[in-house]
Amino acid sequence: MDKGTAIEDRFGRRFPYLRLSVTDVCNFRCTYCLPDGYQKTGEEAFLSVAEIRRIVEAFAGMGTWKIRLTGGEPTVRQDFCEIAKAVASVPGIRKLAFTTNGYKLPERAGAYYESGLRAINVSIDSLDPRKFHEITGHDRLDEVVAGVQKALEVGFESVKINAVLLKGLNDDELDGFLGFIENRPVSLRFIELMQTGDNLEYFRKHHVPATVVREKLLARGWHLLAREEGAGPAVEYAHRDYQGRIGMIAPYAKDFCATCNRLRISARGSLHLCLFGEGGHALRHLLQDDGQKEELQETVMRLMQVKKISHFLHNGETGVRKNLSSVGG
Ligand code: SAM
Ligand code: SF4
Repeated sequence: MDKGTAIEDRFGRRFPYLRLSVTDVCNFRCTYCLPDGYQKTGEEAFLSVAEIRRIVEAFAGMGTWKIRLTGGEPTVRQDFCEIAKAVASVPGIRKLAFTTNGYKLPERAGAYYESGLRAINVSIDSLDPRKFHEITGHDRLDEVVAGVQKALEVGFESVKINAVLLKGLNDDELDGFLGFIENRPVSLRFIELMQTGDNLEYFRKHHVPATVVREKLLARGWHLLAREEGAGPAVEYAHRDYQGRIGMIAPYAKDFCATCNRLRISARGSLHLCLFGEGGHALRHLLQDDGQKEELQETVMRLMQVKKISHFLHNGETGVRKNLSSVGG
């Protein structure tokens, strides 16, 4: 089937971007995600390097050119660099990214880059060490910030910071975050807190709409950038006095789904057509042999026909998923 055109759904949306979760396990305990830390289920047989390579080869053959490795915390896998090398070497993959909590990043950034990773998103929800500790369960803010610096030094082409907006925790930190990107060529992504089955009470207490930050940015002279072709759901802002940019990810916004350009694979090999409350379609049985590639591609193409136009969250559908650690956010 190797056609080289991007996977498309019934609504004309194209999907050149695959987010691939490599583990559900995480070593942090973010209060909105895994407040009690990762709990073993006995089903920790996550995709092998060979299975991951087969997924990527099949998707690359259908026009996917960007892969993001995520989790859980993808770097807890001992073979994380091996996974990255396998993915980076698949013909057609032009951009290999990953999302990380930044654990041990200063010492590991060089090896990640050497493995073929070129874009990194580091989660930093607070620049106040005490609050960072409170949110993640780890007193590691300095290490994570040093890791961001190291990622820039070793040559990552794209360095982004993810910060989940949290009322009462970091909603007073806008100026601190802006100071952080004043002289750093990094893009800071504010992500609106998403409701999950595990964080219902937390969501009610800490959810802040992204529009609140948008108003503050506009008042401080930030301006909206024109959407680039193929850009995902983040809306970007720039300011002439700042090297860095700001992105806003507001999943509850009505038009969020119109720009959807990504599919997700869970760490156990299921295809998720939407981040929200959709059970996933098992593909692992089609990852056992190189000879299954066409069947795998045909199955994905067939499943694309059932992808819905929207998550319908704004219509009152909860779309609730237990937490985001199993599909990587
Ligand atoms: N462990 C890595 C990390 O934290 O960067 C990668 C996986 S994590 C699930 C990916 C992103 O999803 C992180 O930036 C995290 O802050 C975000 N996230 C997790 N749960 C969320 C929620 N309920 N609402 C919004 N963002 C969430
Ligand atoms: Fe772990 Fe990332 Fe979830 Fe935090 S957001 S608990 S680092 S998976």
